[in-house]
Order: sequence, then structure tokens, then C-alpha cells
Amino acid sequence: PGKDCVKVAVRVRPFNKRERDAGGRCIISMASSTITIQDPRNSQSPRSFCFDYAYWSHSGFTRDCSGLYVPEEPGGRYADQHCLSPQGSVFQDLGEGILENALQGYNATLLAYGQTGSGKSYSMVGYGPNKGLVPTLCDKLFQAIRANQDSRQCQVFFSMLEIYNEQVVDLLSRGSRSPGGLRVREEQQRGFYVEGLRRVPCDSAPQVEQLMEQGTRMRTTATTHMNANSSRSHMLIILQLKQIFSEESITKQSNINLVDLAGSERQRVSGSEADRLKEGTAINLSLTTLGNVISALADVAVGKKVVHIPYRDSVLTKLLQSALGGNSRTVMIAALSPADICYEESISTLRYAERAKRIQNRAVVNESPTE
Ligand code: ADP
Ligand code: MG
Repeated sequence: PGKDCVKVAVRVRPFNKRERDAGGRCIISMASSTITIQDPRNSQSPRSFCFDYAYWSHSGFTRDCSGLYVPEEPGGRYADQHCLSPQGSVFQDLGEGILENALQGYNATLLAYGQTGSGKSYSMVGYGPNKGLVPTLCDKLFQAIRANQDSRQCQVFFSMLEIYNEQVVDLLSRGSRSPGGLRVREEQQRGFYVEGLRRVPCDSAPQVEQLMEQGTRMRTTATTHMNANSSRSHMLIILQLKQIFSEESITKQSNINLVDLAGSERQRVSGSEADRLKEGTAINLSLTTLGNVISALADVAVGKKVVHIPYRDSVLTKLLQSALGGNSRTVMIAALSPADICYEESISTLRYAERAKRIQNRAVVNESPTE
């Protein structure tokens, strides 16, 4: 099988109110898919990174003589309608390919990475009329299923879960708030999976959207229940597509993982929270391990000797094993704030994304004779 690199996109959101009120300076600029970031305390050292795609949603700004973006009209408004990269073009570049891959029988994964408030959920799920990648993907998936119904019979299953402090919570099932959460198990053929996770058969996009709303409500209650902060949990949607081609007697199966990761900012643990956390549990073991797996795979890709990829060290990396270096076509969106006050987090997101870009997967079509 051929190798496919993980595709990486970066997306810069507009200033938020806090950044505007603080008189924030824009330290990021973009020229096609190259993104340049300026350390606000060191004018001599801008750093550039090149990705597969780069989206600029920050507007109302113009460059000053030192190359920094400054407000065109001080006190102007930077509302959503100023978006330069609307949701539709992001879907065209990233979502369309995932849909096509899935219809061909490949596994696909989409991950959103970035600090809290950087735009992960905006890109993945969206807000109101600004529909994100997941709802649009579902819309188009059911359209494609209807358009192809003469040649194949399709089934779609929807699951939604949350990983918080290494516990798996089923967001579609009330009974799953058992202590310790659901168990992650491993089988030879299947790899890692969540035991007892609810899979809801779906046949329309509105049905999926309703399930997503239900899951999102449940996530809010679940985190409140655990006294937790939802920016520290990972949300994972799994869409399973089964296509039965009766003429050829072939069945194709693909899993689509859609992951809204926990905020990547350095975690500070307050006193009471430290007490609640199990001793020895890192505040976000899954996110730390994801970083370690990505670094190890990036080393493999440049020919370094790597003895061990630590997939087994966390729940998230177990569930994403095939997405990272395995049988999946994988896309990562790195979400960024344009503001000077976010420099440390933004440069760390860009470095992370740069490593992810090196990962090589080997995706194959999952097909077998129809039983
Ligand atoms: P995260 O999920 O990373 O914590 P959100 O996606 O909730 O962050 O985004 C934080 C805020 O920024 C939201 O109000 C959202 O509407 C806005 N936002 C994020 N990305 C964009 C974008 N590309 N264009 C316009 N607004 C955005
Ligand atoms: Mg979010």
C-alpha cells in the first residue's frame, strides 16, 4: 500500500473581545499556505511554517511598516461576516476528501488541535448557521448515499464519546456514567474499541444533528457532574459506514473519527482539583501521550530508530492508533489565535502541527466478500 502523509491545515480566527479590549496586536501573517509568526518580545526572529492548507479568518487589519497587522479602523468591528475563509471552503478542502475516502472504503480521521478558544469547535461542529465540518460531512454523506442507492446498500452508525481524565463517557447513553467509565478493549482484528459504546443507526443528516445536540448536552452535564472543565476533555464522534454492493458481493466498511481535542494550553492544576485527581494521573495524559506518539512517528518518518510508539499509554491514543501511522487517511486542523498575548501557545501549536505533518499512514480499502 502507498504511504499518505497526515494532512495539516492551520486556521487563524478573528480577535475575540478580550484580545480587542487588551489592544492586542496581530503577530501572525499568511502567504498561501505559509504562516509566519512574530515573537512579540523579539522583533528580529519571525518563524515560518508551511502546511497543506492555511485559512485566514482574521480581518479588518492591515500590515504596518514592521510587517505586523494593525487595525484598519481602530474600534472597528470584526464580526463573523468578515470571515475570509468561510466554513464552506474549509469543507471543500478537507471534508470533501474525507467523504470521498470513506465512500471508497478507507478509514478517515479529522483532529482539531489548539488552545481553548482558538476555534476547534467552530471548525469541527460550528455555531448556528456557521456549520462546521461534521454536520456538513453528514449532510453530504447522506446525499451521496441517496445518489448511489442503485449500486449499493448503505448503513451508517453514529457514536459519540468523551474522554476526561482517562475515563470514557458515552455521550449517547445515560446509563454509562458508571464509576471508571466504559472499558477500552483490544481485539486482534478490530484493534482497540470501547466496550458497550452505543452505536445509533442513522439515515438522515437531521437525525445525526439531533444526536450531536443530545451528546453535547450530555457532555455539559457529565463534566458538571465530575466537577470538570469541558475544555479539558476530548470529544470523539465515530461514524461507521457499511456499504454492501450486491452485484459484486462485496462489503466495504469505513470508520470516520472526528475528534475535538482538549485545549492544548499548559494545564495548571488548582488545589482542590489536584486532590480529586487520582495520584499519578497526569492532568491530561491523553493529550501528552498524543504528543509523544506524534513525535515518535515523526522520527520514524525521517528515518530515526524508534523502538516504541507509546499508543498503549493513554485512552485517546489507543482509540486513534489506526489514525496515527496506520490504516487511515488523517487530517489535522491546528486552530490559532492571531493575538500577541497567545504567542507561547500559538508557537507550540505550530510546532506540534509541524511534527504531525511528517507522519506517514498506510491506508487500505476495507473490503471483504459479503457474508
Ligand atoms: P475552542 O473550541 O477551540 O475552545 P471555539 O471554536 O469555541 O474554540 O471558538 C471560540 C470563539 O471564537 C467562538 O465564539 C467562535 O465563534 C469564534 N471563532 C473561532 N474560529 C472562528 C473563525 N474561523 N471565524 C470566526 N469566528 C471564529
Ligand atoms: Mg471547543
